[in-house]
Amino acid sequence: MNRKYRKTVIAGNWKMNQLNSGVKPFIEELKANMPKARNCDVVLCTPAVMIQAMVRAGKDCRVAAGGQDVSKFEKGAYTGEISADMLVDVGAKYCIVGHSERREYHHESDSLVNEKAKALLSRGIVPIICVGESLEQREKELTMSYVAYQVRAALAGIDAAQIRRCIIAYEPIWAIGTGRTATAEQAQEVCSEIRSVIRKLYGARSARAVSILYGGSMNAKNAAELLAMPDIDGGLIGGASLKPVDFAAIVAATAQE
Ligand code: PEP
Repeated sequence: MNRKYRKTVIAGNWKMNQLNSGVKPFIEELKANMPKARNCDVVLCTPAVMIQAMVRAGKDCRVAAGGQDVSKFEKGAYTGEISADMLVDVGAKYCIVGHSERREYHHESDSLVNEKAKALLSRGIVPIICVGESLEQREKELTMSYVAYQVRAALAGIDAAQIRRCIIAYEPIWAIGTGRTATAEQAQEVCSEIRSVIRKLYGARSARAVSILYGGSMNAKNAAELLAMPDIDGGLIGGASLKPVDFAAIVAATAQE
């Protein structure tokens, strides 16, 4: 973390879990376990139908609401889609794009991820842009080149003012939901490479202003070590974000430097 230049962000990804009725009790338990002094932004990205409940309940605990996906289209005949305007309308401040589960199960391409990120930026929502390599790519030593390519593709046409409002989440696919976390050194190496790609595209001042998160089996036990790395500015957390005590402990880990 480097708090001098950029924000620390702890974002949860509930995926397709929870129900509206569970949001308030979750936030109450989270609040009871949350550290008193907090020096990071906390976000919970819920299914779209729970965003309003999260906005209402989250106010009590300084937790912002986020979506997990957005349409690249502004409006119209796109059954089942949710537009950036609709996310704004229900109070979302952040939205994940390019999660590996969407890339895999919904065949989302890098150019679609880029269009979605731009749709969010045009409406003032912070895109949390996910990138990350497969195990096969890591074993073939393609991690750096592949992640650099994904970052460049996701940021195409995004200008210098907008890049400061983007968050990049490095999520090695082999670490998501597997209990197998990247070592702090592995995660730092890739996050540093992501920052260097941003530096080449936008210059040093922009690069040091962008928050880069690590995601992939981050939990209450390993968070502090990962967050101590200079280019890891927070976490995108799946499984552990469904447990208020664990999620609060990850937030607390941002205080340990
Ligand atoms: C994720 O889905 O973004 C994620 C990081 O999941 P988990 O923490 O469960 O690995």
